[in-house]
Formats: sequence, C-alpha cells, structure tokens
Amino acid sequence: MVSLTFAQEGPARIIFIGAHPDDCDQDGGGTAAMFAKMGHAVKFVSVTNGDAGHQSIGGGALAKIRIAEAKEAGKRFGVEYVVLNNHDGELIPSLNVRLQIIREIREWNADVVIAPRPNDYHPDHRYTGILVQDAAYIVGVPNILPDVPPLKKNPVFLYYQDYFQRPNPFRPDVAVDITSVFDQKIYAMSAHASQFFEWLPWIGGYADQVPEGTEARLEWLKKDRTVIITPEVRKTLEKWYGKETAAKVAHAEAFEVCEYGRRPTDDDLKKLFPMLKKP
Ligand SMILES: [Zn+2]
Repeated sequence: MVSLTFAQEGPARIIFIGAHPDDCDQDGGGTAAMFAKMGHAVKFVSVTNGDAGHQSIGGGALAKIRIAEAKEAGKRFGVEYVVLNNHDGELIPSLNVRLQIIREIREWNADVVIAPRPNDYHPDHRYTGILVQDAAYIVGVPNILPDVPPLKKNPVFLYYQDYFQRPNPFRPDVAVDITSVFDQKIYAMSAHASQFFEWLPWIGGYADQVPEGTEARLEWLKKDRTVIITPEVRKTLEKWYGKETAAKVAHAEAFEVCEYGRRPTDDDLKKLFPMLKKP
C-alpha cells in the first residue's frame, strides 16, 4: 500500500458518485448542501446519463432532459453536477468506466468520495459501487491513466445508506443532521421532474398520487422522500451530536466508512465533516 498522507489545507473537496442523475441528490444531497454552504467544494457525478429512466421518452432525448435537470439541481444544491455519457440500465464494471471514475476523483483532487455499496437491487447502483471500489487504490497509482496526475493523498471513501441485509447490513459510521437544509434538498431534487413526478411514480404504481402545481408537488415530495431514521442511525447521531440534540433530529443522512482508501479516525471524520458538532 502506498503511504498517502492526509492533507487538509483550505476547503475540503468532496465528490459524490451515483449511478443516475438524482441518486447523489437523494442519498447525500442534504450533506452536500451543508458542505457547500460552509464553503467546501462539492461535485456530483452520475455515472450513467439516465437514458432509460422514463416510461414514454428514451435515448438521446431523455438523456438531454436529464442532463438539464441535473444541472438545475446542482445549482439549487450549490454543487457542480456532471453526467457521464454511459447508458442507463446497461452499466458494467468495465475498465473504460473505471478509468472515467479515476479521472473524476483525481481531477476533483478529492478528500472524500461517497458512493453506493455494491449490494443493491439495481445493477447500475451495484456496479457503481464496484467501480468506485476498484478506483479506491488506483487513484494513487501514476502508471494508470498517466495523463492525469495521481492523488498524493488517498481520499476517505464512504458509502451511502441502504437497507440491504446481505451479505451484511449498512453500518452508520457517520450520521449528519440535515434538518436545517431538508426543504432545500427537496426543492433541489424537484428539479428532476422527469423522475420524481413522472418515472418513479409510474414504475412504483403510484402515478395517480402526484398532485398538480409546484407548491403541492413540493409538499408531496417532502413526504414521499422523507427517510425514516432507523434506531442505528439515531444511535450514531447521539454519538456525534449528543443525546439531547440527536433526539430532535427530523432528517438525517448516514454514511459507512469503506475499508479501502484512507481509514479515518473519529478525529479525522470530525475534520472532514465539520457539521458533526456537539452544541
Ligand atoms: Zn439510481
């Protein structure tokens, strides 16, 4: 293992990676908005262009819509949003895509990389997890992708929360209180109109529940996209914020530290996630 040191000078650089344009938003958008507000540099990367995610539009026409939605969502979160041009629903953990991801992480000079775990119902999510794991060590290897300088410090890699139990359940190492930015998160997510108001309700069989009108839709999306805080996540909130504050948290996002990449101590995590503060 290359010895890569941890250098935190100036703002932290965080990169969220998801399979589809809207994945980073849902799983890490609140945390991203908080980082951005604190002056840190945040980027969202969608590994596919989302060109399969609709019931009546598809291909290049859909990809165009989804790229525009992602750009708007990025503005609302205060982050940069990039959509890579790989087909939705057809992602495989190829060398080509691995190199695209290494490029993204290196060019962002990331301190923190957040991605899905490789156990998931959706193959694109699963392989995004694999692809990022495959990049975790190689981002520091100069002979791979030699046109982009390797990272001198290995980033900390984390996973988004999920509910899959096999082979092992998600372990919340970090839980961020996003209550103060929850409305902003929902407003930003609503930029993906083709997803949250069309495709997901259609494939989920609840299209008849989507209301008309911007305000009504935002209110509906708040309910539809509220993530229940599990007892494990509540415990983690207590660890970082103290019992009293943790009890009042209405919305949270949790992350698990990946075994690859830099292994942070609790003090490192406090530095990397400055919003984790006891009052
Ligand atoms: Zn997805």
